[in-house]
Amino acid sequence: MQHETPLFIGGEWVEASSGARLAVENPATGETIGWVACADVADLDRALDAAARGFAEWRITGAFDRAALLRRAADLLRDRAEAIAPVMTREQGKPLAEALGEVRGAADMLDWLAEEARRSYGRIVPARSAGIDQHVIRDAIGPVAAFTPWNFPINQAVRKLGAAIATGCSIILKGPEETPASVAALVRALSDAGLPPGVVNLVFGRPAEISAHLIAHPVIRKVSFTGSTPVGRQLAALAGRHLKRITLELGGHAPVIVAADADLDRAAAVMAASKFRNAGQICIAPTRFLVEDDVHDAFVSRLVAQAEAIRVGDGLEPATTMGPLANERRFQAVERLVADALARGAELRTGGGRVGNTGSFFQPTVLTGMTPDMAAMNEEPFGPLALVSRVACLDDAVAEANRLDYGLAAYAFTGSARSMAELRNRVEAGMLSINHQGLALPELPFGGIKDSGQGSEGGSEVLEAYLNIRTITQTTL
Ligand code: NAD
Repeated sequence: MQHETPLFIGGEWVEASSGARLAVENPATGETIGWVACADVADLDRALDAAARGFAEWRITGAFDRAALLRRAADLLRDRAEAIAPVMTREQGKPLAEALGEVRGAADMLDWLAEEARRSYGRIVPARSAGIDQHVIRDAIGPVAAFTPWNFPINQAVRKLGAAIATGCSIILKGPEETPASVAALVRALSDAGLPPGVVNLVFGRPAEISAHLIAHPVIRKVSFTGSTPVGRQLAALAGRHLKRITLELGGHAPVIVAADADLDRAAAVMAASKFRNAGQICIAPTRFLVEDDVHDAFVSRLVAQAEAIRVGDGLEPATTMGPLANERRFQAVERLVADALARGAELRTGGGRVGNTGSFFQPTVLTGMTPDMAAMNEEPFGPLALVSRVACLDDAVAEANRLDYGLAAYAFTGSARSMAELRNRVEAGMLSINHQGLALPELPFGGIKDSGQGSEGGSEVLEAYLNIRTITQTTL
């Protein structure tokens, strides 16, 4: 069965005006499994017009009603999760259980945003004189242009769509061309929950053309992007030129500090599950394992055992625990990083190459003896590579953890409260998870520092990016 994904503009599913469309492939088989409409400037202008009209209506819709709509959409997603998950697995490759978890996680995110929608408080500031009222109010910034990637087609999109809806904004989302039917299923749930036309619009096409047109357009007041740091830099420059506020969720290169007093079984099990989830195509994936000398070999043998227990295969097969990389381009990028590391003296402990003859399957891979001159230690691998380096002490681990300009996620394993306090203070990351994997929950801020981004897409901070702060002062005398 092939999926046709049209554009969603002004409350209607429509073909691109030019009739152009792009093929969608299953990365497990290489087969074309559907088509996605490819918008041109005329389509974008219609989406802008719809978003302007949608905003006029939605900004004056009460917070209670916005919250109710989000909760209805969350329920619809839960009801439809079993039907949506295989669509995502075929487009993106992740195992069915992960796809199902992603759809249910998106429903949780919508519930959280529904709650926060009703807590978007203003303030009354005490005045200097009698008869003066000073109000600080927060209201919707305006139509949003958002750009989301293919690695979590629904969860990356829901953070932006849900926050825009919660605050009273309208939004044009450029979804991922690689995984269009998944994100369309999310938009359909929002629309079926009763969203007025124009509040959410979904387009696909040539990314650079769409971002250039939307960000520059006067209707758009805010930009939100999730993807690579180089593209984020380009879009930030464009937003700067047009004075548009921007939120950026960019790449990471997460360090994992394993101290000599860590629970090694737990560290290896928790980090392997996190490393190889979604075949490592996660911005918060643990990547640089910095292991204290005394426990290096014991930790590596545990990590290798975990990696070798993974069942690589088509995500639709129930036994599969890791699917393919999202496309052949990613496969080649990961293969190049492994070859470079080996040429520079790394040791391959397991994995390192292709699985099977069809599809973009890469083995769960553990490399040791990693050094800072290796490309993989500097570029985001975005694949199933665990890169292990020996460190003499925690100071050395912190120095290596902070060496890169990335600052998204970091992990640490230690039994010492003193080391935990030290790491909390010194590791430069927007999110630090100690002795477990506890990141990316709706109620916690999600975002990076340094070159990993700006702003947060979770927690009670999530709505700030979509709100103006305005001062009203009035006298009744
Ligand atoms: P890419 O940089 O070509 O694209 C990443 C995403 O940005 C895609 O969704 C793409 O459609 C979009 N994009 C690219 N150019 C754009 C533009 N000018 N305007 C608007 N959107 C644009 O990389 P890729 O090969 O698809 O993915 C690989 C890299 O992307 C990874 O190495 C990783 O760093 C990054 N990435 C990060 C995340 C994340 O969650 N932060 C998600 C996916 C990809």
